[in-house]
Amino acid sequence: SPLLVAADLHKSYGPTPALEGASLAVWAGEVVAIMGPSGSGKSTLLHCLAGIVVPDSGQVRYDGRELSGMPDAARSALRRTRFGFVFQFGQLVPELTCVENVALPLRLERVPRREAERRAAQWLDRLEVGDVAGKRPGEVSGGQGQRVAVARALVTTPQVVFADEPTGALDSLNGERVMRLLTAAARETGAAVVLVTHEPRVAGYSDREVVVRDGRTRDLERTW
Ligand code: ADP
Ligand code: ADP
Repeated sequence: SPLLVAADLHKSYGPTPALEGASLAVWAGEVVAIMGPSGSGKSTLLHCLAGIVVPDSGQVRYDGRELSGMPDAARSALRRTRFGFVFQFGQLVPELTCVENVALPLRLERVPRREAERRAAQWLDRLEVGDVAGKRPGEVSGGQGQRVAVARALVTTPQVVFADEPTGALDSLNGERVMRLLTAAARETGAAVVLVTHEPRVAGYSDREVVVRDGRTRDLERTW
């Protein structure tokens, strides 16, 4: 059965409808791209799947458990241990070095500093940014910063990585490099990836594309 299921989600922000019947199933290890025009509800769907936004109606189930029925503490523990996040702008902590940024999710799980930083450094190497370990985010390029952010998302070996326009601030060469490394690392660790993008070339790295229009989903059938 699917790892993560959103069923008939509805969500409004005041009078503004964002989701009006969105459904999506994510299977373990697959890479799904959520596509659609600006304002169609892609980010809201991603945030509902990740338990960051609670829908007005409909269900989100992770591993058989209903997210909206969980206490807040259980939902945030789930996000910390089972989910990883990559945003459009890396959102790295500027005061910490890159290796400290990547180690942070492990430190929050009480992994000792040396061990956390050793594992973080391995992830930086895997993302081909081992050389920026000791630099602060302000001293690295946009492409390097996003690869550091991907390393941080994967360091806890999550079951699902949520990525909201992860290449949106990058040129196409760096965007493709981030997508190639993100999807390869996810495949190695067995993580599913749920990605929001409006760029067909970025969606091309997915196994499956789901289109959101006016808050509703429509699965595209593969053409091959
Ligand atoms: P997309 O990711 O496809 O651009 P969003 O999910 O961000 O779409 O937005 C869907 C609709 O909900 C839009 O009309 C947007 O303006 C509105 N919306 C999204 N987030 C908020 C918010 N926090 N407060 C008010 N309106 C919001
Ligand atoms: P990449 O293409 O791998 O992202 P670049 O060729 O853009 O890297 O950058 C090479 C080096 O220049 C980096 O190691 C970084 O230290 C420095 N650099 C690049 N862009 C910036 C920036 N915006 N701010 C600070 N340093 C940068």
